[in-house]
Amino acid sequence: MNTIPTVKLLIGGQFVESETTEWRNIVNPATQQVLARVPMATRAEVDAAVAAGKLAFKTWRHTPIGVRARIFLKYQQLIREHMKEVAAILTAEQGKTLPDAEGDIFRGLEVVEHAANIGNLQMGELANNVATGVDTYTVQQPLGVCAGITPFNFPAMIPLWMFPMAIACGNTFVLKPSEQDPMSTMRLVELAIEAGIPPGVLNVVHGGEEVVNAICDHADIKAVSFVGSTRVGTHVYHRASQAGKRVQCMMGAKNHAIILPDAHKEQTLNNLIGAGFGAAGQRCMAVSVAILVGEARKWIPELVERAQKLVIGNGAAAGTDVGPVISCAAKERVESLIAQGVAEGATLDLDGRQPPLDGGVREGNFVGPTIFSGVKPGMAIYDQEIFGPVLCIAEAASLDEAIALINANPNGNGTALFTQSGAAARKFQEEVDVGQVGINVPIPVPVPLFSFTGSRASKLGDLGPYGKQVVLFYTQTKTITERWFDDSSVAGAVNTTISLR
Ligand code: NAD
Repeated sequence: MNTIPTVKLLIGGQFVESETTEWRNIVNPATQQVLARVPMATRAEVDAAVAAGKLAFKTWRHTPIGVRARIFLKYQQLIREHMKEVAAILTAEQGKTLPDAEGDIFRGLEVVEHAANIGNLQMGELANNVATGVDTYTVQQPLGVCAGITPFNFPAMIPLWMFPMAIACGNTFVLKPSEQDPMSTMRLVELAIEAGIPPGVLNVVHGGEEVVNAICDHADIKAVSFVGSTRVGTHVYHRASQAGKRVQCMMGAKNHAIILPDAHKEQTLNNLIGAGFGAAGQRCMAVSVAILVGEARKWIPELVERAQKLVIGNGAAAGTDVGPVISCAAKERVESLIAQGVAEGATLDLDGRQPPLDGGVREGNFVGPTIFSGVKPGMAIYDQEIFGPVLCIAEAASLDEAIALINANPNGNGTALFTQSGAAARKFQEEVDVGQVGINVPIPVPVPLFSFTGSRASKLGDLGPYGKQVVLFYTQTKTITERWFDDSSVAGAVNTTISLR
């Protein structure tokens, strides 16, 4: 008898077993234990999820703001109450440490709190007397069924970037979580239903390429939010745009931090280690290139020393700093890029292949912190997003040279400068062509009062997830220009000009 649990679909308010014949194992990356099986949903199941969303939209779009907001007030409370439980699921299926899993959930929780404030966010504008007796105002109307496609690295935060704001705006939603770790996402979905999201307003389908393509092509889906790799995001952007949808794609990265010699040394080194190796480097905002300027080049031995002290192991064990990468394939890819870095002439200051481990966790997908210096554009370790615990060190003679290196890189997700100089910081934030800038902050992901603003090759579409921008993404601005005649109005002559007067 097969006792491995299955991950359910959510269609029209019911958690249902897929009828597919195609299933994939969800594997604990620290132990290789099979935790559950996830279905690759059929086309009919995708259609049923979208149809449920379309039906529910008829009533949900008219639901008062207060009713929508109160669901998210309740939802944030439920997420807080279940934080540890969801974090344990997340660590088991994704690998990151338990405190980092709580961080993943917390950054999503902040968006749920923001969604509870939808009344203020979705307000329109009014201009009085734009012509005699004429007023113009705007309303932000929901679009219909929207869809979200999410990556493996933040199975809590990124789904929570998407469906709470879309639904709070009056849309219904079809979510397609990462097939590598959908269990924590599903627990959060269960809590959303418990918070009062009505049947059909939130639906979930699982799968890979075929399900994603079905979402891109579906005539009844009006908007698609995607977060994942540049290759898949570019495909989704083109395919879904071609089908007439609004699309926003947040994609891959290569984030550089510049270290000036006047930076606070202790803080800077600790920040680089945390941002380079936290979550085993599997963050789209991880620092993957450190550019050491001038005398800061002498800090490499201390950086290596600190990285060597990180504890590598099962993320569920207390005291672990770096968990496994998501899959055996990911481990092989990271290790082969490390080999390529050596072959291409970079200096391997710290080799994370075959890291020191406790006896019990040998079977996991572990790669330890790895540091290369002498890294240059043209090397695979610089040109590709490694998405593992590998920090590349490049050198520059001046701040200008360092900024030029960053601006020549196609990606624009995040960047940071470490310095004590206000003038250098101002120059950097003015001249660097990257959408999210940190000054002595290594991972400058904005809180939901703002929006996530990656740029250039890291993003397609104008509007970012969460914050005010996403309200514009998930709504249609309608302008209404109106004039009322009363009994005292004097009938005017026919006017064939375009003027409103
Ligand atoms: P991925 O692109 O492989 O997968 C993302 C989603 O696309 C998943 O739901 C997956 O099922 C689906 N997918 C995979 N292959 C597909 C295909 N051929 N056709 C259609 N759909 C497909 O990304 P991932 O490995 O899960 O996540 C890591 C990537 O996500 C990294 O590149 C990282 O930088 C990026 N990311 C970006 C941000 C951001 O905000 N910019 C945030 C997190 C992650």
